[in-house]
Amino acid sequence: MNSTPDEEGRGAAAAAEDRFGEQPRTVLVTGGNRGIGRVIAEEFAAYGHRVAATHRSGEVPDGVLGVQCDVTDPESVEQAFATVEAELGPVEVVVANAGITRDGLLLRMSDEDFDAVVQANLAGAFRVARRAARPMIRKRFGRIIFISSVVGLLGSAGQVNYAASKAGLVGMARSIARELGSRGVTANVVAPGFIETDMTAELSEDLVRGYAEQIPLGRMGAASDVAGAVRFLAGPDAAYITGAVLPVDGGLGMGH
Ligand code: NDP
Repeated sequence: MNSTPDEEGRGAAAAAEDRFGEQPRTVLVTGGNRGIGRVIAEEFAAYGHRVAATHRSGEVPDGVLGVQCDVTDPESVEQAFATVEAELGPVEVVVANAGITRDGLLLRMSDEDFDAVVQANLAGAFRVARRAARPMIRKRFGRIIFISSVVGLLGSAGQVNYAASKAGLVGMARSIARELGSRGVTANVVAPGFIETDMTAELSEDLVRGYAEQIPLGRMGAASDVAGAVRFLAGPDAAYITGAVLPVDGGLGMGH
């Protein structure tokens, strides 16, 4: 928890509320030990929210409650939520960020590689959203945010499994938006472009240069670019936004 007192000796949460009009919320981010998820967790914590993050391996950032969770395992998802509820209270903002790639061309893609990606990225997000929804409905407040990808909208050669899983998140979010809108729960999608993390570190320099040439802003994004968009969707300024897909891609996917 971020409980660093400000100059007047109050907690960071109280200060955040004054400065930004943001009520401190209980936030759960999946895949918070590295990459984009880690920076999202840090961002919410820095603004005084009560933050938990899941990890399979590694550690979550300081000031964040770490809970072990594999999103492909329903029991593990249940356990993670139960722990967060016991320690921090009901989850009000959930960010389904955990994801993997298993790239390969269509003709060579195995069933295992297709299933593994859909299980982690799409079914995992479904399990997390389903578990999050009931307490949100009870509270008549909730923010469900899915981390998709520009690839889900544009397609990508060699990523049939990944693109399908990320496109699926859009239909999922929009269905949840329709189901739960009257209960004060919003469901939105953030679609990052190429963001510098472990996931993109494997790309060759030539490929990265090629992508950068197609990006109107001319550079790869940072995880903090994504974190800012996620916090916006969780905050009071996004109260009337649901079923939206917010690109954070330097313009790469414009029009999609
Ligand atoms: P990383 O590979 O750096 O991190 C992925 C995170 O997801 C890790 O914390 C990982 O945990 C976790 N994770 C993977 N599978 C599971 C699982 N079954 N259960 C629980 N946690 C799991 O990826 P990024 O930070 O780059 O990506 C984060 C999200 O953003 C992903 O959904 C990705 O598809 C999406 N995205 C990324 C883009 C990019 O350019 N980087 C672009 C567009 C979208 P562990 O460390 O234990 O493996």
